[in-house]
Amino acid sequence: MGSVEETALHLVPEPDPDADVALVRLRARIATDIASDRRSDHVFETLIAELDHRISGGRSAIITIDDADQSRVRASNLPPAIATLIHGASRRRWFGTWDAAMQRRGEVLAIEVAASSLYREHRGTFVEHGMLAARAVPLTGRHGIVVGACVTYLDQSRVLEPSEVDLFDEVTSLAELAIIHDQSRQELLDRIRHDPLTGLENREGLEEKLRRALDTARGHGWNVAVLFVDIDDLTLVNDSLGHATGDLVIAEVADRIRRQVLVGDTVVRFGGDEFIVVLERIDAIAEAVTTADRIRTAIARPLRIADTDLTITVSIGLTIGTGDRTALELIDEGHAAVVRAKQAGRGTNAVHDSSLDSLAGDRLDREVRLREGIDHHEFVLFWQPKVRLETGRIVGAEALVRWEHPDRGILGPDDFIPTAERAGLIDDLSDWVVWQAVREVAAFADVDPDFSVAINLSASQLTRPDMQYQLGAALDSYDVAPERVIVELTESSLADDTVAERMDDLRSLGVRLAIDDFGTGYSSLAYVQQLPVSIVKVDRAFLVGLAADGSGAPVLSAAVAMAHALGLSTTVEGVETRSQLAGLRNLGVTWAQGYLFAEPATQASLVSRMLDESSRW
Ligand code: C2E
Ligand code: CA
Ligand code: CA
Repeated sequence: MGSVEETALHLVPEPDPDADVALVRLRARIATDIASDRRSDHVFETLIAELDHRISGGRSAIITIDDADQSRVRASNLPPAIATLIHGASRRRWFGTWDAAMQRRGEVLAIEVAASSLYREHRGTFVEHGMLAARAVPLTGRHGIVVGACVTYLDQSRVLEPSEVDLFDEVTSLAELAIIHDQSRQELLDRIRHDPLTGLENREGLEEKLRRALDTARGHGWNVAVLFVDIDDLTLVNDSLGHATGDLVIAEVADRIRRQVLVGDTVVRFGGDEFIVVLERIDAIAEAVTTADRIRTAIARPLRIADTDLTITVSIGLTIGTGDRTALELIDEGHAAVVRAKQAGRGTNAVHDSSLDSLAGDRLDREVRLREGIDHHEFVLFWQPKVRLETGRIVGAEALVRWEHPDRGILGPDDFIPTAERAGLIDDLSDWVVWQAVREVAAFADVDPDFSVAINLSASQLTRPDMQYQLGAALDSYDVAPERVIVELTESSLADDTVAERMDDLRSLGVRLAIDDFGTGYSSLAYVQQLPVSIVKVDRAFLVGLAADGSGAPVLSAAVAMAHALGLSTTVEGVETRSQLAGLRNLGVTWAQGYLFAEPATQASLVSRMLDESSRW
């Protein structure tokens, strides 16, 4: 038996106990590295060092292919001339044993590099650097996908010794283990960081991403913009059509947002119906506003879900910052801005104040100035008297806001109300108007305790849930009877369904409601009659042609007659001549307002006019 064993020993090369120990040690070391989450890069270094140490005249490399299909080389002893040939190459420039091993999914040998067709035009370079033979084995990652190769170049035309092959194969398996571990970790991270409903990243990785974007921005002098996108009234969809439909809406909104941003930009599902878009490399907030507008338009396109046609809108809060800001600050500012956007009426943008200093663009400049004007109390109310035609006496006035602009003089509402609406400043401005009007009408008690004030509210103000509270609190604070306040709503604001509901809220305070600019929209008196409105204010356009005897303005006379038949009072505004006044009297109009009586002016001038007995019309 002994001789057989001896023979065997001669046939099979002597096992090298040192090599076995080295393998076990290597395995243990790599296992520890992987268990402690060392990256595959680090593991590769150890493995290559081991190969280079133990394969005589060998120089090894691990080559992997990245997401962009570019080769990456990890090697310690490859000559730079060779490394640069292999590293960073796109698919059509791959060559040699490692490329062949990946394509064939198996071991590839080149015993004579000088003669091998695999080395093409690079043969000379390899031979010159004493790399005469090569062995490569593919590296397989998760799901059996080949992700790279391990290659050893030898300084002689030879094959590897069996013990070298053992080591090489062991190194290959360990490298694969490290790769698979990396991939699993990445998959897990991806899963943790992605929202299954929309496929978007969730807020998990947002802060880090934003921090990185800000760091890059600091280096380049760019800005980073945060858009906080919030779906309007999703609860309505959930409540009426069910949560499954709500989910479909969220997924569709996510999709539409994603289509409006550039490839490198980040879209994150921040919460239930909230998304955050991070735009890198922004010069001015105006660019971000353009993107926000695009997103809003895309989302507002009709949407068909489960046989139901829906129109979804979003509100967007914007802010920008550069490297000196923190990720959390920007997220908070975006959130604060979206809250303001919601208050300004749904389906709008609002830019956070801090972003306004860095602005480019006239329009945004005006927003900045407007905000300052509000802060600096540059607004005043002008009063335009209203005459009761039965008595010819001034019985009330409309409060019309003016901006005493330090540079531009007194500005009328058409110059700044649209800006205020767009910039989300209208709430502040309207609160001021409401409080100031009530305060000033209270001051009228000495002159005429029944004197009334008409306050203009835009549609966005009417739908504000807290408007009723603001007005009620102002009335209480100044002890003003609610009948002395008339709220004027333009005819166009009636188009909004929620408006009718809020009208009831206001009416329940005891104030009167008037429809302003009547006749310029499409509402009929029959519709107005269903609303808690008691006054119709006919637009001055209908005065055209009115003669002193009441004829010549058929639409005006029909509207007045019908309003009275429905139990409504009437105001006609824009009265400029005595003849018009006579005509209105003949039609039985309740009140008239216009330059004939007075142009809008300060309260003081109105008081002196009223105290003057001649002010009877
Ligand atoms: P409005 O409510 O229809 O106000 C009447 C406008 O007609 C006022 O312009 C007034 O100055 C002008 N006017 C008055 N009498 C005559 C006249 O005899 N002839 C002519 N040609 N015009 C006359 P103003 O003050 O520029 O206001 C414009 C609009 O701005 C108002 O239209 C109102 O819709 C809005 N507005 C005014 N104050 C406020 C406010 O405090 N809040 C809101 N949301 N809107 C306001
Ligand atoms: Ca008005
Ligand atoms: Ca009007």
